[in-house]
Amino acid sequence: MKLQLLPSTFESGGAASKRQHLTTLVLDNAVAFDAGSLAMACSEEQRTSIRDVIISHAHLDHVAGLPLFIDDLFATLTEPIRVHATPEVIEVLEEHIFNWKIYPRFSELANEFGPVVEYVEFRPGSCFEVHNLTVDPIEVDHKVQSCGFVISDDTTTIAVTGDTAPTDAFWARVNKLPSLQAVLIECAFPNELAELAALSFHMTPDELGNELKKLERSDCEIFVMNIKPAYCVETVSQIRELNIERLKILEVGKIYEW
Ligand SMILES: [Zn+2]
Repeated sequence: MKLQLLPSTFESGGAASKRQHLTTLVLDNAVAFDAGSLAMACSEEQRTSIRDVIISHAHLDHVAGLPLFIDDLFATLTEPIRVHATPEVIEVLEEHIFNWKIYPRFSELANEFGPVVEYVEFRPGSCFEVHNLTVDPIEVDHKVQSCGFVISDDTTTIAVTGDTAPTDAFWARVNKLPSLQAVLIECAFPNELAELAALSFHMTPDELGNELKKLERSDCEIFVMNIKPAYCVETVSQIRELNIERLKILEVGKIYEW
């Protein structure tokens, strides 16, 4: 299984920045989990190979690249972009983004080959298959309905919390898995901003440390993502102070393989 966190922004020289403003995880160059920077940062290969997009929740930093991705591919799609989301998230996308005011309602449009978008509903607790992956969505605790995911292929399983405050159901599920290669967990704000983290249903390094006490397994790598760029230095330093050897920061752009 290959995983890449797509870049969000660029340095002055044009190279991809290591700052994560937006969330898009690409698996096996075929399936995108969230679409924050999908249209802007995917490679030419990914542009032609990604036709399934799984949305954890409808916040802008997770969906901003979705309308642009569909727009970019509109004329050439020979199959629709399949947007996998809960009914609640689909309703938000249709009402607030694909509403003919912010962007066209692509679900009502077709090109010469047929529809360009197909919504595929999933519900937390019900596994579904996408491409070569089995996806198990687990509701986490965010300001809006949001899902973490356990994602498996024939040989590998990873788990991704998505945006969340401290949560329990996710860890209960992860602890029961027969094997796990990696867990990706969010940590948005430094400890000084615990109040803001609580208001926005995100985590601080102190809470990250507490969450990882719920992880009852030693067989997996652990990666932190979704660190707010404005507080990156403090947050990373506080994460390092947790002194958890297998805990690493998920690097923007790097291709991980398990
Ligand atoms: Zn969010």
